[in-house]
Amino acid sequence: MSKITIAIDGYSSCGKSTLAKALASHLHYAYADSGAMYRCVTLYALRKGVIKDGSFMPEEIIKLLPKIKLSFEFNSQTKASDTFLNGENVEKEIRQMIVSENVSQVSAIHEVRVQMIAIQRELGKNGGIVMDGRDIGSNVFPDAELKIFMTSDSDIRTQRRFDEYKTKGQHVSFNDVKVNLLNRDYEDTHRKEDPLVQAQDAIVLDNSDLTREQQLEYVVKLIHDLTLSAS
Ligand code: C5P
Repeated sequence: MSKITIAIDGYSSCGKSTLAKALASHLHYAYADSGAMYRCVTLYALRKGVIKDGSFMPEEIIKLLPKIKLSFEFNSQTKASDTFLNGENVEKEIRQMIVSENVSQVSAIHEVRVQMIAIQRELGKNGGIVMDGRDIGSNVFPDAELKIFMTSDSDIRTQRRFDEYKTKGQHVSFNDVKVNLLNRDYEDTHRKEDPLVQAQDAIVLDNSDLTREQQLEYVVKLIHDLTLSAS
């Protein structure tokens, strides 16, 4: 079977990126983090002051879109690609809490989605890619050969994200992380355009009690079975 497209969607902080990166590396596929793209737009809007003190100006964010150029470069240390905003490596900055707190509102803007989805489709046009996000299997690549929908207990998700912030030296409380995660889940599942939904043909993966290795093994087996059924 030629190189396929693998879509990994699911709730916030389920470990989608971790699994997607491991899978891409195992298969020698490209990896794309669609959430990072929405985070870049949010960071840019914060820097330009059009999201400020809780006030949010969608029409100003739309005006900024032509000034945003995204690119991705493989980082040999992390073995994944870093995200660049207008030539600047913003991989760390886009993971800050302030970005997480505003990204769901930014990603609900129609014009933002149109621009990001065009980039995502371009990246994946030749297959051989693992992309994670919220609407990859349901909307960006509806014909993806493999769609995984990830879920996990919310306290376990919060703990994972909380540990990540701690490792990166960012001081946030467990409760703030949990509130942000649940708010994003709510906003992402309730927005009008391309909400987070499980695609009909997606396979659900609840990783609450699974190690990273077990998750990778599970998906590799799915791909193996898919290859056998296609031959
Ligand atoms: O995956 P990550 O948590 O970095 O995504 C950040 C946010 O970007 C999500 O909460 C969601 O609002 C938005 N997003 C989206 N569609 C995607 C990926 C992410 O709307 N395909």
